[in-house]
Amino acid sequence: MKCKICKEKAIIKLKRHNIKLCKEHFNDFFLKQVDRAIKEYKMFKKEDKIMVCVSGGKDSLVLWYVLKKLGYNSVGMYINLGISEYSENSKKKVIEFAKRFDLQYKIVDLVELGYPIPKVAKESRRAECSVCGIIKRYYFNKVAFDEGFDVVATGHNLDDEASRLLGNILHWNEEYLKKQLPVLPAEGNMLKKKVKPLIRLTEKEIASYAFLNRIDYIIDECPLSEGATSLVYKDALNLIEENIVGTKQFFYFQYVKKLLKEIKQSQSEKRYLKKCKICGMESFHDICSFCRLVKDEKQ
Ligand code: SF4
Ligand code: ZN
Ligand code: ZN
Repeated sequence: MKCKICKEKAIIKLKRHNIKLCKEHFNDFFLKQVDRAIKEYKMFKKEDKIMVCVSGGKDSLVLWYVLKKLGYNSVGMYINLGISEYSENSKKKVIEFAKRFDLQYKIVDLVELGYPIPKVAKESRRAECSVCGIIKRYYFNKVAFDEGFDVVATGHNLDDEASRLLGNILHWNEEYLKKQLPVLPAEGNMLKKKVKPLIRLTEKEIASYAFLNRIDYIIDECPLSEGATSLVYKDALNLIEENIVGTKQFFYFQYVKKLLKEIKQSQSEKRYLKKCKICGMESFHDICSFCRLVKDEKQ
């Protein structure tokens, strides 16, 4: 097996791109995919202050590492969820990683704040993952606003987003479907822009990159993730992908293209609003429906 670019020994085969690459060219490929996603979806610029949500897992640590390599200004943000040993071990990984690569980080400790996930879930009688999602979102938004970050980056990859899309389609979750984009714009004055720079890469590619670059991450999954339906959708998509290469990528990115087109259309309609020549209110016509109505009545 030879590298397509330098003809040296290849270490990885990327079926969906139909190429084999050596370590050096796989690393180049990986950085290019991240760089392409950042630019294609206008995620952030060199001068932006980026908050990277880090869990200690491979995706978020690889993202943090790659952003540094690409010369972006990022700070890691870790939330101690208070989920037994898993949280202690993942926190250790984040701190060790930050020290090793001389990166800045912040920690929000839910145990100290009195909101560890298992406790809040028990008291509110809600599923742990749903409680966890709400609390994480709240603190990521809060810290990003309080500390003046421009953008919040997460390590979601192609597998995460394609499987979530499949789940949302299977249940026709229209509200969630509208939010399945690599970039979510800032809202109001406090909610910052959210971006997913690893969106062009699969879980396997990220794990390979972490291994080749000796990124030490927590391998254990959160113990509360057992039986998560998202894993069923991931397995289903992997099965399809094995038989029909490129399906995952096509499925997600065609959807993003369609969604962005719809958003653009609705925005351009808004832009085409005119001012009514009679009353000055915004209208899609030179004279608004109201003025047309009252004018007609007078005639
Ligand atoms: Fe939170 Fe664990 Fe559920 Fe993930 S699996 S949302 S970390 S409780
Ligand atoms: Zn090569
Ligand atoms: Zn509140």
